Amino acid sequence: MTAQPRPVPEASAQPAIFRLSGVVKSYGPHNAIDHVDLEIRPRELFTLLGPSGSGKSTILRAIAGLIGIDGGSLTIEGRDVRNVPTHQRNIGMVFQSLALFPHMSVFDNIAFPLRMRREPQGDIARRVAQSLDIVRLPKIAERRVHELSGGQQQRVALARALVYNPKLLLLDEPLGALDKRLREEMQLEIVRLHREIDVTIINVTHDQVEAMVLSDRVGVMSDGKLMQVGSGEVLYRRPANRFVADFLGRANVVDGTLRIDGAGPAVITPGGARIAVTPERQIPDGRRATAILRAEDIEMAVPGDSGSPGLGGEVTLRLFEGEAVYYEIAVPGIGRPLRVASRTGEIPNGAKVRLTWPRDKVWAVAEDSDG
Ligand code: ADP
Repeated sequence: MTAQPRPVPEASAQPAIFRLSGVVKSYGPHNAIDHVDLEIRPRELFTLLGPSGSGKSTILRAIAGLIGIDGGSLTIEGRDVRNVPTHQRNIGMVFQSLALFPHMSVFDNIAFPLRMRREPQGDIARRVAQSLDIVRLPKIAERRVHELSGGQQQRVALARALVYNPKLLLLDEPLGALDKRLREEMQLEIVRLHREIDVTIINVTHDQVEAMVLSDRVGVMSDGKLMQVGSGEVLYRRPANRFVADFLGRANVVDGTLRIDGAGPAVITPGGARIAVTPERQIPDGRRATAILRAEDIEMAVPGDSGSPGLGGEVTLRLFEGEAVYYEIAVPGIGRPLRVASRTGEIPNGAKVRLTWPRDKVWAVAEDSDG
């Protein structure tokens, strides 16, 4: 996908449309949301990304008012909404299940929220037609939902969520059940829709590519905690901690001790391997730290004679993936094989290789960083 995100207004330029401060939600002894602070800016497309069970949907449900919270505060445009019922929060929602009425017509599905609000009949017809235009589904208003394709049903669910012009649209993995191609098509659809209409979107997904291509900013969740918030690029290149690094993309996450000598900072593994890291992140000498080395940033060369620069290793796995060849390289002193994505990929299994990388591409985090 090539869509470029729109510039997002600076936080200082406009007040946050939505703010969670110290929000806690517990189920028994377990915090499904564990002291989360988050600001969503007006017209932003924000994605909550994290593994299953990390608390993404619970945050969305709390924002929507479908569940109460046990601590902290929730405000929409500066107003505390903890006691405001869902239907008065001016929020549209689309869930993975879509929750459409399969035997009703498309028109009746989309009109449903307006009828619940007892809007005048003429307004309903006009707004349903507008909403169908927005999701590019004119001319199917009379069809039954169960006769539509998966992609069309997604669009109907979006049209229904948008029909009363909500300020905030919540998407809880609505693309989760779609096949890859349809999923990519709908991702573009959401980006387009977000550009065209005046709406702030909070999207939930466990798919890191979806999060990065779709969003102005992404918040990474783990075990109820918000680990880091930033653009996809910042999360990918400058992860705040080991979890974020490991969750996004194909990273080599190598633990050791940070040492600074004449050659600059490096993470030295317990087995004695030396990974040169960027000096940009200043971690004190002697601190336990993790080097984060992206598979695509490693250069691999043969012959692997020990006179050449870099780390020596041996190819233990070679997989042709089309765009790249994926390698695993056993390196003495590093417990897990290093993962390398190579564009040329002519080096065979079993070859002795030397691995090098631009030091500036290797990020490091101190062991107790929690984002
Ligand atoms: P995600 O959306 O990231 O997959 P959820 O927000 O659905 O995660 O769940 C976060 C945690 O809270 C999980 O451990 C889940 O089991 C728990 N949880 C969510 N809803 C309930 C509930 N109604 N009762 C008990 N536990 C729940």
